[in-house]
Amino acid sequence: MTAIVVLPFVALGVAIFLAWGRGIALVDLLLSAGFYAVTGLGVTVGFHRLITHGSFTARPWLRVALGLSGSMSFQGNVIDWVAVHRRHHAFTDRPGDPHSPYRYGTSLRGQLRGLAHAHLGWMFVDDATSAERYAPDLLADPAMVRVARAFPALCALSLTLPFLAGWAISGSLYGGLTAFLWAGLVRVALLQHVTWSVNSLCHVIGSRPFRTRRHDRSTNLWPLALLSFGESWHNGHHSEPTCARHGLERGQIDPSAGLIRLFERLGCATDVRWPDPHRIQRRRADDLQQARAPS
Ligand SMILES: [Zn+2]
Ligand SMILES: [Zn+2]
Repeated sequence: MTAIVVLPFVALGVAIFLAWGRGIALVDLLLSAGFYAVTGLGVTVGFHRLITHGSFTARPWLRVALGLSGSMSFQGNVIDWVAVHRRHHAFTDRPGDPHSPYRYGTSLRGQLRGLAHAHLGWMFVDDATSAERYAPDLLADPAMVRVARAFPALCALSLTLPFLAGWAISGSLYGGLTAFLWAGLVRVALLQHVTWSVNSLCHVIGSRPFRTRRHDRSTNLWPLALLSFGESWHNGHHSEPTCARHGLERGQIDPSAGLIRLFERLGCATDVRWPDPHRIQRRRADDLQQARAPS
């Protein structure tokens, strides 16, 4: 676990050191963006919206493909990821939530400590989430069990592929190594910290236009929308957890929802739970206040 968290971050430092003064090669930049998108959307569309929340039904091959690409993001195997996230929704910002930034209270010190805990500290706490309890459907799904078992191999593949691609395109071993650094380790580190920021920042900073359950402090944080593929519309998501689109308001960019729409058009995603405008309107926080205000 320590290696998974610390190594990519150290690599980020090395990469910046190497790139200092001469920039990053275009090949490395394009490969990084490509691997970031494939593995990131594997997490947001696959692990999260499809497998955790059942926001749509995917053809079996697509479900496996998304499970494989999400596994390559170094965020744990698919079954554990889903179990932890379902537990987060079951106990949001209450005792039992595996990564709430409110664990140590709301004083400045407690809040900062809580943010560190929600960002990555929670992974080092002895507080295992039971897959039997939170993901029995996946344990009973042979395809998902196989994807989960392949996690270590997929992590290795996630670093080997950029190296091979960089080597093949540049024709030099050095080109392979810089691609390994940027499109491998740095890409993993960036995606990890963006995902973890949804757990930490998107429960503390930002707006709360939609009603959520009691104690739930999830927020919408626009600066992370693009990098998180729409997952930082986290208040919208906690308000309507099974909805395939997290950016519920006009203009809220949500690339994951765009990809689900594309899958739907191509006929490989069905039963997509798109937002219901009447339901969304009823969930607006200001709507509730107006209803409560004496007339
Ligand atoms: Zn959350
Ligand atoms: Zn969720």
